[in-house]
Amino acid sequence: MEKAKFSFKGILQNDGWRSNVVITINDNGFTTSIDSNNKTRNTENFDGYAIPGFQNAHSHAFQYAIAGLAEVHDISHTSDNFWSWRESMYELALNVSPEQMEAIATMLYSEMVRHGYTNVAEFHYVHHDKNGKQYNNLSEMGSRLISAAKTVGINITLVPIFCQKGGFGKAPLEGQKRFITPTIEEYLQLLEFGKNDCKEYNGANIGIGIHSIRGVEPKDIAELAKTGPRDIPFHIHISEQLKEIEDSIS
Ligand SMILES: [Zn+2]
Repeated sequence: MEKAKFSFKGILQNDGWRSNVVITINDNGFTTSIDSNNKTRNTENFDGYAIPGFQNAHSHAFQYAIAGLAEVHDISHTSDNFWSWRESMYELALNVSPEQMEAIATMLYSEMVRHGYTNVAEFHYVHHDKNGKQYNNLSEMGSRLISAAKTVGINITLVPIFCQKGGFGKAPLEGQKRFITPTIEEYLQLLEFGKNDCKEYNGANIGIGIHSIRGVEPKDIAELAKTGPRDIPFHIHISEQLKEIEDSIS
């Protein structure tokens, strides 16, 4: 059913700008037609331009809670860098509850929608409880992110992240205990729970995610790429940090 008509000075399409158009949308908010503006009645006029919704291809929603708190570079913190920022992030990651995860994500996704984002890929790695134990629903935290996206009305691709260790040849750090999944088999279980949670929202999809080349054994990255599901996105932090690249070749 036709719901509303909006006219714009111009809209951006695949083949460039199109001037002076009317967009008709249905009850679900989907565009059903784009026509030249013939000044019909019942059209809401916008004296401006419209562009398609943005895609946020890489989100760690819980980090929104420390935005602005860990990027202080005063004179006494000259050694601050990604790795000192990470300490603040771990402190938050160790303490965030499922309820807080959902609240933070709801706030963040609301901001995304307000600024024109219609899709978010959530690179999600806080899987376990505060003691590092699995929740009954292995994807409890992921389900909170889906729930937040549903509340807000943004599409989400949940990407549960496979992270095995603390760096090249290093055991996981205490601050990483909520992130760790030791084997491919356990990761595929986590992925399956996440996939199941996606059924709760028709705007939700699942993807495969590797934390980084420092977080997962190369042979397991290759194995998962070869034998894991092939019909969903595959996401990785690749070449994320200079130190990581240096470590990878030393
Ligand atoms: Zn990231």
